[in-house]
Amino acid sequence: MSFQNPVFIPGPTNIPESVRKACDMPTIDHRSPAFARMFKPAVEGVRRVLKMDAGEVILLPSTGTGGWEAAVSNTLSPGDTVLAARFGMFSHRWIDLCQRHGLNVRIIETPWGQGAPLAAIEAALKADKTIKAVLATHNETATGVKSDIAGIRKAMDAAGHGAMLFVDGVSSIGSMPFEFTAWGVDIAVAGSQKGFMLPAGLAILGVSPKAIAAMDMATLPRTFFDFKDMLTSYARGGFPYTPPVGLIAGLAHAIDLLESEGLENVYGRHHRLAEGVRRAITAWGMTPYAATPDLYSDTVTAVKVPDGCDGTALVQLAASKYGVAFGVGLGEVAGKVFRIGHLGMLTDVMVLSGLATAEMCMADLGWPIKLGSGVAAAQDYYRGTVPAMAMAAE
Ligand SMILES: *Cc1c(COP(=O)(O)O)cnc(C)c1O
Repeated sequence: MSFQNPVFIPGPTNIPESVRKACDMPTIDHRSPAFARMFKPAVEGVRRVLKMDAGEVILLPSTGTGGWEAAVSNTLSPGDTVLAARFGMFSHRWIDLCQRHGLNVRIIETPWGQGAPLAAIEAALKADKTIKAVLATHNETATGVKSDIAGIRKAMDAAGHGAMLFVDGVSSIGSMPFEFTAWGVDIAVAGSQKGFMLPAGLAILGVSPKAIAAMDMATLPRTFFDFKDMLTSYARGGFPYTPPVGLIAGLAHAIDLLESEGLENVYGRHHRLAEGVRRAITAWGMTPYAATPDLYSDTVTAVKVPDGCDGTALVQLAASKYGVAFGVGLGEVAGKVFRIGHLGMLTDVMVLSGLATAEMCMADLGWPIKLGSGVAAAQDYYRGTVPAMAMAAE
């Protein structure tokens, strides 16, 4: 059967038809004014989504992981110290990337399910004035935990520390509020395939004037991701190499969609979708893996499964029997959770279909669950809140 269900993985996300069409374009000369005309709105649009007053937007043919690498290789030197809390697979992978680049990573080990520990970050900064950058995972996609980036900025200011603040916003930017300038972020990393609802293939970065200045002293090797080469070419309306033209056209269009819905409405919709999912899992007698409600992510929920149940078995059955994709538990929560992605092109009705599918799988696997219980809880919640018609009518 060639029909396609929506996906409920936390990226890549479902792609709106008009975004797919915007990506599908004939070859143009990327050194022509035609490319410059389509490139500029994409860059300016990202600047608005990031809420960025000063600095540069950089688009790299890559993914979020390449964005991490670009952030550190452009601004740091071998042996530099960076500070990072580890509380999930994505914060772990960024730390690993730094270590493989010869950076000295001061790691604050934090239980999975928790977010960035503000007091420990402040104490670590007070104890070590040589730290060059603080790395923060805004939304830990493995556990469904959001961290308080404004709080990290406050901790840095309270410590009177001049380190840069690098934020992984791959699974938050475009779906949850983000304030590049107000939070004093120096580099923000996003990827095309999450909140921007595009295929994978672009790393999207915001870079502050302070991070730009740090490039002069930074000696880590970089070529493909060199911001200087990018910015020199950008000034001439182009790229230092062949850009992924279709993705850039798609990005400009995706931002049009987000802005026609209204960014605040987009964030409100994600919150409502997530809250419906949380009501459903409560009705199932389960809980989010995130330790406390202030940590609940609005883009992904890691559902803690009952003792003796295997979250990975549910994900496999959903794929093989019903053709629906959920996320498996990663690393130390493998099997203990399954993840419901609720970001990007999603409506109430789509989420209800995902919840219904999860229930069928639970019943098939003999889990203690009553069919319809979670769906009913989400329905009650969605009926009583403003529907996502701006999105549905698109
Ligand atoms: C998806 C994701 C990434 C990057 O993944 P890529 O597959 O390289 O795009 C990084 N951080 C977080 C928090 C993510 O969710």
